[in-house]
Amino acid sequence: MAMWMWTKNYTKGRSGYSIVAIVPHISCCSSIGAIDNTFGPYSSRKVSTHYAVSDSVTHQYVSESDTAWSVGNWPWNCKTISIEHVGTTANPPSKACLDRGAQLMADIAYRMGWKKLTLGSNVRLHREFASTACPANMDYQWEIARANVYLAAKWAGKKKEEKLYYPGQVKKGSKGNAVAVLQGLLNMRNGAGIKIDADFGSYTEKCVKAWQTKVGLYPDGICGAKTWPTLLGD
Ligand SMILES: [Zn+2]
Repeated sequence: MAMWMWTKNYTKGRSGYSIVAIVPHISCCSSIGAIDNTFGPYSSRKVSTHYAVSDSVTHQYVSESDTAWSVGNWPWNCKTISIEHVGTTANPPSKACLDRGAQLMADIAYRMGWKKLTLGSNVRLHREFASTACPANMDYQWEIARANVYLAAKWAGKKKEEKLYYPGQVKKGSKGNAVAVLQGLLNMRNGAGIKIDADFGSYTEKCVKAWQTKVGLYPDGICGAKTWPTLLGD
């Protein structure tokens, strides 16, 4: 259910800590694109989040097994999974956005083996850890209650977790965010040294072929359903 977006601003692993809570945030951004600019591959700010949700999409920037720079407190960065929501103090996150956040919370909780989400226990707030008003007037209580409805249904039906899906196929001539994500992953995974310009040129193609050869795929230079998972660690 999450679209993979990537960022360079995170720390590999959890530094020996276990994940104990989810932190819902108000992003102070009025669109998912504005959140991508703050937390995504183009951002130069030293901040990140695992997920962001809008009314209609869920974006993921940092793997749950890695540490996002999200709550302004090192041990708590290591112990939490953050979810940013589209919304500002003037226009707080909509019910549709909170509902999407609730489904994501339930997914995470189910995978963690948590039967119920409880504020102060496995749901914590940014303002507990740093000097911030976040989550301000966002209705996180409604979101937690809603998440518990989804979570109870998951435990009752033992529903399979939904699979992460990947950006679509990109190849020479492709442009855009998926290309930037690909370039960042090739640099990170294979020291490709690509300038991240979101433009799939000859050098990016060469680096994709080198990666495909390395992981035992046919080196056609096209990054699609087989190549994406190898880059993302599945
Ligand atoms: Zn926050």
